[in-house]
Amino acid sequence: MTGDDNNGIFDKNHSLLITNVVVEGRTVDIAVDEKGMIAGIGEKQWKEWNGEADFLIDGNGALALPGLVNTHTHAAMSLLRGYADDMILQDWLTQKIWPLEAHLTPEDVYWGTKLACIEMIRSGTTAFNDMYFMMDQAAKAVDEAGIRAVLSYGFIDLFNAEKREVECKATENLAATVKGMNNPRIKFAVGPHSPYTVSPEGLKWCAEFAQAQHCGIHIHLSETEKEVTDCVAQYGKRPAAHVDTCGILTPRTVAAHCCWLDEAECQLLGKRGVSAAHNPASNMKLATNRAMPYPWLKAAGANPCLGTDGCSSNNNLDMFEEMKIAALLQKFFWNNPTILPAPEALAMATANGAKALGFPTGRLVAGTPADIILVSNRDACNIPIHNATSNLVYACNGGSVETTICNGRILMLDRGIPGEADVLNGAAEAAFGLVNRAKSA
Ligand SMILES: [Zn+2]
Repeated sequence: MTGDDNNGIFDKNHSLLITNVVVEGRTVDIAVDEKGMIAGIGEKQWKEWNGEADFLIDGNGALALPGLVNTHTHAAMSLLRGYADDMILQDWLTQKIWPLEAHLTPEDVYWGTKLACIEMIRSGTTAFNDMYFMMDQAAKAVDEAGIRAVLSYGFIDLFNAEKREVECKATENLAATVKGMNNPRIKFAVGPHSPYTVSPEGLKWCAEFAQAQHCGIHIHLSETEKEVTDCVAQYGKRPAAHVDTCGILTPRTVAAHCCWLDEAECQLLGKRGVSAAHNPASNMKLATNRAMPYPWLKAAGANPCLGTDGCSSNNNLDMFEEMKIAALLQKFFWNNPTILPAPEALAMATANGAKALGFPTGRLVAGTPADIILVSNRDACNIPIHNATSNLVYACNGGSVETTICNGRILMLDRGIPGEADVLNGAAEAAFGLVNRAKSA
């Protein structure tokens, strides 16, 4: 009945009592029922709740937070971590990333996503928004890992009607696969890759499919200046206005990057209730030369959230680092240290992220699913605690996460993740095999 007795604790949901944790400055206990819901938060919570917990987790003064939400990534690209860096975006894609991706197998996507899930669990992320290929393998990996995901197939028709048919079919297949899994942690979305890789017809099909299925839309928008110039030349409209005429901007839409939006486009995103996923590490690494206009989006009432992008352009999935980089980049870009203060960075990674993905998580509130992480109060980065939010955003990284719980199930306890070594070995082998196949081709 204690956290030390791991016998069976990881296998399924149990009722849990997490004692002596700090939530918003208050030392409390958190009770989780066997259905995975937060039963109550407060002093001596279990007695008030009048239940009996299967397992006791002694929080030992740790900071308890909602699991972080990564609203833009390509999980399987963890296999490409460190494969190509310090290059011009177009060269990087055409000379290194796309040629290697041409050799990806379903097993690679499975192992890459498994690796990404381990990294996310370890750094306190319990939900992510994924866009890639062979997504049935990603779904299998997420199902096994125990975290939440919205999975979209990267729809790229390259303005070709035949290719569009194939992409529509792949999107429909993923929807059927995810529905068939009937797992409340896994949802599907449509993933029109971007306005420069998908035709207006393709974008319209995606918007209609999403409307009919009540699912999300995941798209890259205005990452580079060239994308804007090309879009204006081709359609006479900037990218946000262009995709809006195709029905893509909705309250269920997550638009990634948004670096080059102008003020009118930000207002359009606000009016449509779109979530804008800021990816500051990727943008800085690939030198997009402009930061997502966070103050304009916030003023317009859009939902700003946070993502890491794939591991080939970040090169990790640590949302703690991403919070800090976002706050620093915004201050630097606007030449104003009051922009994106720590509480707003934390909100982007929690409540705003959960809203973007349509999960009822992102806050520690009774009656919501128990996605909870415990951050050590004994690591140097958390000493002293003048201001816990400041430490979480500016001082700590994902390495200070001790325990990760998703939907009431313990995925990491006192930094131990069952089966981790097998996943790391499998992923390392898959990455090695992939690079060798590409070399000998
Ligand atoms: Zn991306």
